[in-house]
Amino acid sequence: MPNEAATIVVVEDDPNISELICMYLRRDGHRVVAAVDGEKGLAAVERERPSLVILDVGLPGNVDGFEVCRRIRAGSSVPVVMLTARDEEIDRVLGFELGADDYVTKPFSPRELAARVKAIIRRSARPAATEKAVAVLGRITVDTARREVLLDGDPVALATREFDLLAYLVANRGLALSRRQLLDGVWGPDWYGDDRTVDVHIGQLRKKLGADFTLSTVWGVGYRLD
Ligand code: CA
Repeated sequence: MPNEAATIVVVEDDPNISELICMYLRRDGHRVVAAVDGEKGLAAVERERPSLVILDVGLPGNVDGFEVCRRIRAGSSVPVVMLTARDEEIDRVLGFELGADDYVTKPFSPRELAARVKAIIRRSARPAATEKAVAVLGRITVDTARREVLLDGDPVALATREFDLLAYLVANRGLALSRRQLLDGVWGPDWYGDDRTVDVHIGQLRKKLGADFTLSTVWGVGYRLD
């Protein structure tokens, strides 16, 4: 499937893990650029303009994976998949708050990682099929065809999942949606994250979009965009 081939930057200091990930991604036809620390990773992202970044949390030197993610997000909405050896909720939440799109805990199956990469690339390349591509919510403009959000005319940097969640809420405006519906609709039925994932992303949208993001919490159900 050459239309789903992409340039991917892999930031991972463990040569065995890096090699394994690169091998699986290349097998899927992707062009892969490997970096061994945070500084080199940031330089590679800047230089290669990849379609996706795979980012280890624990990196040598002064710049860890969280910091790399934060710096990438300052200038780019490229999807970021974080890797960690620690299965701690705090890491997962921090990663999402910094704008990571997905989170994989070591040890992981490279086959599963490759499948997730494929799903993310397919989703971010997917053209919006809505009849009305632009929605206006007060001072917020959501353009699903261009995957662009403006607040008072200025672009708002959203992570891929944050944008997908916003677009899903806009498409279902006025309906009360459960967290499960949101997980299925935005993350897909195979996602095994929990409700907290939805809440963290909603929190990010509220923080970034402000008062004109008129999302109500529906007690015992979930959320509704008014
Ligand atoms: Ca590491």
